[in-house]
Amino acid sequence: MSLPADFLAAARQLIPAERLFDDPLSTLAFGTDASFYRLIPQLVVRVESETEVIALLRLANSHQVPVTFRAAGTSLSGQAISDSVLIVLGDHWNGREIRHGGAQIRLQPGVIGAAANAVLAPLGRKIGPDPASINAAKIGGIVANNSSGMCCGTAQNSYHTLAGLRLVLADGSLLDSEDPASVADFRRSHAPLLAQLDELARQTRANSELASRIRHKYRLKNTTGLSLNALIDFTDPLDILSHLMVGSEGTLGFISAVTYDTVPEHPHKASALLVFPDVESCCRAVPLLKQQPVSAVELLDRRSLRSVENMPGMPEWVGALSAGACALLIETRASGAELLSEQIERIMASVAQFPREKQVDFSTDPKVYNQLWKIRKDTFPAVGAVRATGTTVIIEDVTFPVEALAEGVNRLLALFDKHGYTEAIIFGHALEGNLHFVFTQGFDSETEKSRYQAFMQDVAQLVAVEFAGALKAEHGTGRNMAPFVELEWGREAYQLMWAIKRLLDPQGILNPDVVLSDDPQIHLKNLKPLPAANTIVDKCIECGFCEPVCPSNGLTLTPRQRIVIWRDIQARKRAGIDTGELEAAFQHQGIDSCAATGLCAQRCPVGINTGDLVRELRAGQARHPGRADWLAGHFATALKGARLSLMLAGTAQRLLGAPRLLKLSRSARRWSGERLPQWTPAMPQALRWVEPSPVRATDKPKVVYLPACISRVMGPTAGSDEPVSLFDKTCALLEKAGFEVIFPAGLDELCCGQPFASKGYPEQGERKRGELLAALLAASEQGRYPIYCDTSPCTLRLVQGMPDARLNLYDPVRFIREHLLERLAFEPIDTPVAVHVTCSTQHLGEAEALLAVARRCSTQVVVPEGIHCCGFAGDKGFSLPALNDHALRSLKSAVQHCELGVSTSRTCEIGLSSHSGIDYRGLVYLVDRVTRPIA
Ligand SMILES: Cc1cc2nc3c(=O)[nH]c(=O)nc-3n(C[C@H](O)[C@H](O)[C@H](O)COP(=O)(O)OP(=O)(O)OC[C@H]3O[C@@H](n4cnc5c(N)ncnc54)[C@H](O)[C@@H]3O)c2cc1C
Ligand code: SF4
Ligand code: SF4
Repeated sequence: MSLPADFLAAARQLIPAERLFDDPLSTLAFGTDASFYRLIPQLVVRVESETEVIALLRLANSHQVPVTFRAAGTSLSGQAISDSVLIVLGDHWNGREIRHGGAQIRLQPGVIGAAANAVLAPLGRKIGPDPASINAAKIGGIVANNSSGMCCGTAQNSYHTLAGLRLVLADGSLLDSEDPASVADFRRSHAPLLAQLDELARQTRANSELASRIRHKYRLKNTTGLSLNALIDFTDPLDILSHLMVGSEGTLGFISAVTYDTVPEHPHKASALLVFPDVESCCRAVPLLKQQPVSAVELLDRRSLRSVENMPGMPEWVGALSAGACALLIETRASGAELLSEQIERIMASVAQFPREKQVDFSTDPKVYNQLWKIRKDTFPAVGAVRATGTTVIIEDVTFPVEALAEGVNRLLALFDKHGYTEAIIFGHALEGNLHFVFTQGFDSETEKSRYQAFMQDVAQLVAVEFAGALKAEHGTGRNMAPFVELEWGREAYQLMWAIKRLLDPQGILNPDVVLSDDPQIHLKNLKPLPAANTIVDKCIECGFCEPVCPSNGLTLTPRQRIVIWRDIQARKRAGIDTGELEAAFQHQGIDSCAATGLCAQRCPVGINTGDLVRELRAGQARHPGRADWLAGHFATALKGARLSLMLAGTAQRLLGAPRLLKLSRSARRWSGERLPQWTPAMPQALRWVEPSPVRATDKPKVVYLPACISRVMGPTAGSDEPVSLFDKTCALLEKAGFEVIFPAGLDELCCGQPFASKGYPEQGERKRGELLAALLAASEQGRYPIYCDTSPCTLRLVQGMPDARLNLYDPVRFIREHLLERLAFEPIDTPVAVHVTCSTQHLGEAEALLAVARRCSTQVVVPEGIHCCGFAGDKGFSLPALNDHALRSLKSAVQHCELGVSTSRTCEIGLSSHSGIDYRGLVYLVDRVTRPIA
């Protein structure tokens, strides 16, 4: 049904045009959450304030237009999609307020779960809910799904740690449970509604059979249906209402803020892996462990262990385990080391009676600890990685009563065999009887759909009826389990849920068909196609974990959305459908506005670098190979040209002044159709470059210094109080540390090839990289000396797939930590310093080391939250400044107390300086400032 014209007209009055999306590309891009369902919204609205939400809901209610809220869109059950209006949270839902020294935290729904924990960490606290998706999932979704994870159990989920809620009902009315005036108003204005809630609660409590069923269901981890426990746990209708909102998946109202009672985050932790010879002994150990001070007990069946046994870094014995083996990964945490040891003893004593096939003892060593958890974390992506292109990977989420866990596991294994899911694996949170099973599924044929339907029918019967368990423990009911809610809960409880829904959303506008649906086939409708698109991205499961780090998220597309659109374009092409319009829109939204620095790969559970796809598409469009050839062959001339441009810009700045030149440059860029680069006051001066002589001869230890081409062109920023170039500063620091600095021959012609590769000229890029590696091999005397490269992106390009093991290449961070820490005495300053970790530093695995070095230099190190890739991407900051502007839109306020910033990429520093109001420089400047040679 299309949206009423008067609704649309009124919505356009309410929300600025740039936050309304109804074009084919945007609606398709937003049609995806992490589930295997797809609905394409007719209108996407990015809301920035509660006032807008209230007005929109009033409007939708009066026109009976269905709306769905979207936080991070990582839901797995099809609850964050809509074919009507999708209301997406914009930037301004990021408020947080720590209360009572961290005992409570009030959060707006757009805060990412991990960001809430980051502000609580220094206080030794965290929020209770801990979904595995916490690095991407936002508070709105975490509360609305009542999400939980490995440690939280039932006691620390949103329902049980809720201290207050601010909500907007379907009619646009507002209630803030922590504001006495709001509460009083609401009690007056909504007296009949509260009276009806009260009556429903009273009837429920009086119905002992129903009440005890509800109690039983919530002893287990359970997110099937609405949170009926609110009706028996509370007597004040306002408390009932607040708690009904938890787990309501956007079907009862909008969550505008939440206050959590936080839980302790103990600093001392240890993990062990116990492998039992069979499922029975493994599961019999679980109830005993439940009585011990354990924070997590994860079960891994033999199939999940098998799915990861060949992964790099996996211990060899994993492959040799017997066919029936079943493992428990146990974690314990404590406030002190002594207590931790006591806990470990108690835990091990409690399970001493059970036979073990293999065991990794409790360890606090981060190496061992991380390896054990890697086994657990890699299982789900492992299934995703082996699935056939075009199929989807489904993760189910059921609860068996703990005492029936062994039988539950074995019966599930039997169902896999019955329905031919040979690749399916089981793992899960054993303490709660919460098992995840992961399998791959095609939906492209009726046979496959019927297989899935028959399997789910058997699973529902097994879990909900035979074992009185829960069909969704953590992930929410969505559309996926809506047809089974009545089966699980029984008629009476199901009708009670519908009564609540009709009371709070009489027009049925809030997320229809989610949690409760009249359609018994809803779980088989609107299944999402995952067509083959490109081998780089075919394994994408559309989970959305990559979105928070993408600089174009909110400006154009996210990595997940780029993949969604590219998949669709390929499928349409194969079907002979014209893709002209979509491809034209994708050019800017998908291709041109991607920084291509691949930070998305760092967050992707299956390791996809969407930047690689974009670079490949750019290569397919590259139209000037001749020009690229010429540049590659005349690189020194090109650098001279670049220096000349900077010199001219510098002269213009002196003549016109920075504000006027900035204005002029903006106008010129507009007139040129965005083809001319953007000048900024943070632009460096041209470097007076004299090629250094390759070798001097002393008996000091030698280091080959490779100044990146950028460092050979760019000097300090005009007007900066730092007159020394990066090149000179680096030489001075290396010499201070006692090194003799030598240079590769023919430096002026050398380049790592990155500028060519990122613009779609991989051949020329590879040629330049090859030339440079050969020059470095010669300069380092076949790898005898270390090689220091002053720019992280260039180092990364050189070390990726390094063809010559003799070369020992260092980026600034690794060189400082391996060679300079021991040669220089550090005296930290108290000046607050902002640190920008470049994408390349992260790819090089040096992010933590960079912060550690910065902390040796300053007692106050600031890492601005929410800034990941700066979007400058070599020269995108000049050619598409909007990307840099967008990526750094929150930088200024985050670093306002800092006096300087450091990074390891000169071009990133230009954008960072111009968006922060402080001077960003290379890390070596800071290190040089705080060090002296060790006598
Ligand atoms: C690989 C993977 C692993 C996962 N692991 C876990 C896990 O361990 N535990 C777990 O519980 N879940 C897990 N999930 C599921 C999901 O990530 C979580 O449930 C998460 O909390 C959802 O948050 P979100 O921000 O993505 O919400 P969304 O998906 O955007 O929305 C979730 C629901 O909340 C509603 N909603 C959003 N914002 C609001 C609001 N402001 N007011 C009212 N309703 C709102 C939406 O309409 C939707 O129904 C996993 C998902 C993936 C892809
Ligand atoms: S490469 Fe960067 S800009 Fe491109 S999709 Fe990945 S994170 Fe986003
Ligand atoms: S690229 Fe990776 S992280 Fe992003 S949606 Fe796909 S699978 Fe998830």
